[in-house]
This record gives sequence, C-alpha cells and structure tokens, in this order.
Amino acid sequence: MNKAVVIGSGFAGLASAVRLIKKGYEVTILEAREDIGGRAAVFKKDGFTFDAGPTVITAPYLLSELFELLGEDAKDFYELMAIDPFYRIIFNDGSQFDYVGDNDRIIENVRALSPADVDGYRLLAKHSEAIFDVGYTQLADEPFNTISSMMRAIPDMVRLQNYRSVYGLVSKYIKDERLRMAFSFEPLLVGGNPTTITSIYLLIHWLERKWGVYFAKGGTGAIVDALRKLLLMKGAKIYTQSSVKKIEIERGSVKRVFTTDERIFPCDIVVSNADPVRVYRDMIDAKHRSKHSDFRLGLKQHSMSLFVAYFGTKKLYPGLAHHTILMGPRYKGLLNDIFSKKILADDFSLYLHAPTRTDSSLAPDGHECFYVLSPVPNKVGKTNWRDEEQRYKDKIYGWLEKNHLPCLTENMTVDFSVTPDYFETQLQSEKGAAFGLEPSLSQSAYFRFHNQSEDIKGLYFVGANTHPGAGVPGVLNSAKVLEKMVPDLKNKFTNVGFAIPKKFSSSERESSLE
Ligand SMILES: Cc1cc2nc3c(=O)[nH]c(=O)nc-3n(C[C@H](O)[C@H](O)[C@H](O)COP(=O)(O)OP(=O)(O)OC[C@H]3O[C@@H](n4cnc5c(N)ncnc54)[C@H](O)[C@@H]3O)c2cc1C
Repeated sequence: MNKAVVIGSGFAGLASAVRLIKKGYEVTILEAREDIGGRAAVFKKDGFTFDAGPTVITAPYLLSELFELLGEDAKDFYELMAIDPFYRIIFNDGSQFDYVGDNDRIIENVRALSPADVDGYRLLAKHSEAIFDVGYTQLADEPFNTISSMMRAIPDMVRLQNYRSVYGLVSKYIKDERLRMAFSFEPLLVGGNPTTITSIYLLIHWLERKWGVYFAKGGTGAIVDALRKLLLMKGAKIYTQSSVKKIEIERGSVKRVFTTDERIFPCDIVVSNADPVRVYRDMIDAKHRSKHSDFRLGLKQHSMSLFVAYFGTKKLYPGLAHHTILMGPRYKGLLNDIFSKKILADDFSLYLHAPTRTDSSLAPDGHECFYVLSPVPNKVGKTNWRDEEQRYKDKIYGWLEKNHLPCLTENMTVDFSVTPDYFETQLQSEKGAAFGLEPSLSQSAYFRFHNQSEDIKGLYFVGANTHPGAGVPGVLNSAKVLEKMVPDLKNKFTNVGFAIPKKFSSSERESSLE
C-alpha cells in the first residue's frame, strides 16, 4: 500500500489524513507537540478546560463530511451547539451591537444603532452573498496551482469590487463608524488587516449568515478528539512528540522523513501541515528547490500575531455573551500599528471568549473560564515578550475589570498566557505569525503556497499558509484541494475503512510504534 506521511496535526493535517485514507493510503501523522490539534490544542488546568485557539465553528458540513467519507456519522462523535448572538460587539462609547444570523433581527439591531444604515446593510448583505457565491462556492476548494486558474477568477473579482478592502467596501454601504467596525473586523480571524485585505473576505459574513456559528460541546478540543478517534479507528498511525527535521528527496521525489530523534519514515507522498517556509528552508536540501530559494522564502509577509490570556474565575458573569468583541478607542490607527508599524500600542481591541456561558462543564461548579485575545505585531516587530508579557496582561486584566468584569482580579483562580513566542517556537510558525502568511491580494490564491510542490514530486501542502487560507473552514478546504491533487488508489480503499477494530483505544494506538 502507498505510504503517506502527514507532518503536523492541525485541523488541516487531520482532515488530510481522513481524505488520504479514503483514497487508499496508509497514513502516518507526525506531530511535534505532546498532543494533536495544533492551534486547536487544549490547555487543562485546575479543573478548567481552555481551548487554546479556534472557538467559532462555522461551515459545520466541512467537519461532518469527514466522518461521512469514512462511513461514519459525525453525530456519534461530537455535538455542535448553535451560538446566538454570533458575536456581541461592545464599542468604546459603551453602545453595543448583537450580530445575529436571522435577517429580521439583524436588521432591527442595525436600526437600533443607526436607522440611516438599514438600507445600506441590506445592500451590503447582498454584496457579501454575491462574493460568497464566487469566492467560496466556486473557488474555496479548487486548486489554484496555475496562473490560468487565477486569470479565470479576475473578471469576477473586478465585478465584485475585490480591489477594494473589506473596510472600504463596508464603508461604501454603511455610514455609522461603529457598524463599519462591526461588519469589517472579521478578517482579523484569518490574520488580515480589515483596512487593506481584499473584500473577497467579506464572504465570511455570508458564510456565517448562511450556516450559523457553533460551539462544540466540551469545546473545540472535542472535535479534535473526535477526529483522532475516527482516524485511529480507520487505521491511521499518530505519533506525537515527533518533530520532523528532514525530508529526503531522491530523483526529484520524496523518499523518507526523518524526525529530530532520528526515526525514519519511508513514504510515497508527504503532506505538510507545517509552515511551508520552514519545510522548504529547513527540511529540504537547497539543491532540490529552485522555485523556493532562501531568498524567495525571505520575501514572504507573515500575518499578525496574538497575545492570549487564559483565566478562570470563582465568580459568574451571566450578562456576558459567549463571543464578545471589545472595541478600543482606535480602529484604523491600531490596525496600522499592528500590521504596518509593527509596534505594540498602548491601547487594544479584544476578543473575549466565555465558553462556560454555553457549556458549564468546562469549569468547576460555580466557576467560569475565559480567554482574552489581543491582536499584536508578529515577530518582525521588536517587542521583547519576555519583558512585556506580565505588564501587558496586567493592563488587559485591569481594563477588563474596570469596564466589563467587575472584581475580576480578586476572583481569578487560575491564569496563564501565550505570546508571539509561543507561535514561533511551539507551533514552529515563521515570525510567530498566528495565521500563517498574511492574506494580502499578492499572497492569495495562485500567489499563496501551492497545495502541490512545483519543486518536488510527492510533496503537498495544506493548512493556513496554502490556498484558501487560515481559519478552520479555510484549512479544512485546503484538505479538499489536496484530495483533488493526490493520485487515487481506488482499488485499495475497500480494505482500509475497517482495518482497526473500534474498541482500539487512541492511547494504545498512539504508543504502538511500528
Ligand atoms: C488564538 C486563535 C484563535 C482562533 N480562532 C478561530 C476561530 O474562532 N475560528 C476559526 O475558524 N479560526 C480561528 N483561528 C484560526 C485557526 O485556528 C487556524 O487557522 C487553524 O486552526 C490552523 O490550522 P492548520 O491545520 O493550518 O495549522 P495548525 O493548527 O497550526 O497545525 C500545524 C501543526 O503542525 C505541527 N508542526 C509544525 N512543525 C512541525 C514539524 N517540524 N514536525 C511535526 N509537526 C510540526 C504543529 O505543532 C501543529 O500541530 C484562531 C487561531 C488562533 C491562534
């Protein structure tokens, strides 16, 4: 049977493994960290369960179809709960806007904040749907490996005004500055600057309106666990604490993968969920990669990074929504500091995650767990996070206590944080980028890392750095693109699905080295 090695176990790596099994490959996942999930890891502390990263689950069919592909029903593996409102946005002047999926309710919420913007919102929603119909429905899971695939998309992009930024297009329809922020902040969820990123990303608005926003019972980590269970049932091998250091190439094709502890994995194909800059630069001899020289790799622009503080309280805050965006005093200026000047500003805008509002099992009885996230410059900036981390965290906690979470610090029972250093070292992400390459027009679609290497036969890429980009739906779609590119071993599939009995536990399987 043909052997596939998947480097990395983020959502993209896990989804790719499922799709490779379906195609008949014998799949081995090598994950550098202690557990799988990548950005979607879970931190457990003192009875609290903190999702480290993604919390907003959209386009749920992209997850359930992975289970269906291998003959299973996703409902037997995890449960999704609809979130309403999708987000509560609280502005610096104290006013707020509930962004919801229902058309009549969202119109009423727009009217409550700015009656003059009701008609404009209707037009904006229509425009967003038109962008979605092209940018998502037609292109999100299609390969963009050739310049002709890019050329074919250009007439639609011009017609849909994708030369404007998300903020620019929103501003064409909406006059109220608060609503402009509410309808343009979402590209930050995929690492883009709303004031410069192409308005293709306005499709996120319609994607959420169309399919809703969900949270998994037990947290996003429960979905990762469900995928782990599925993969082990269907015969994949998962090795954690297995950092890949080298991909050996023979006659232009991948041949073997080496881990830092000197284990060797022979393979017919390699699918990398790891950062392609690091894969090309650090794992592949320069003589095999004429299109990915160190010089060219050095020209890539990386997305912003994040500071995230995780904390638990012995006090409940029942007035909070599950997802809250807390807008600071500046919008464009702050974005400019983060993305262009790459300086850590004195002010911030925050995303506050309060999952115990939906699932109380994530904290001990009578407690709540939270995370608060602040977009910050990536490591091209000069901030020394070892010096800055505690000061920055205290400033955020102080501001939250004063404005939104009274008596926070005296009720806090657990807290810890991650900085851009975590993304750079733990997740092996170039420049500590939280979302991979910046999703600028010059680094999107054909101009992003291709899902199939142009230099090396049998080498493929999935995940946030590849087309279509970051975010859980984006990286799950990258695995669909992969499926279209990898050769099919159809005659092998029939034996694969049931190779490992269901009772085989993940820990047994994970520890069973060949
Ligand atoms: C704090 C935060 C909040 C977010 N919130 C949301 C949200 O609410 N909704 C949403 O849709 N998106 C969200 N995102 C974005 C989303 O989480 C990511 O875009 C997505 O999960 C990335 O998945 P991935 O598979 O591309 O990569 P990753 O999850 O980063 O996986 C890559 C894996 O490769 C491993 N690896 C790297 N190098 C090696 C090596 N040499 N050997 C072996 N393994 C290696 C890493 O350890 C990692 O496990 C958020 C991101 C962050 C950071």
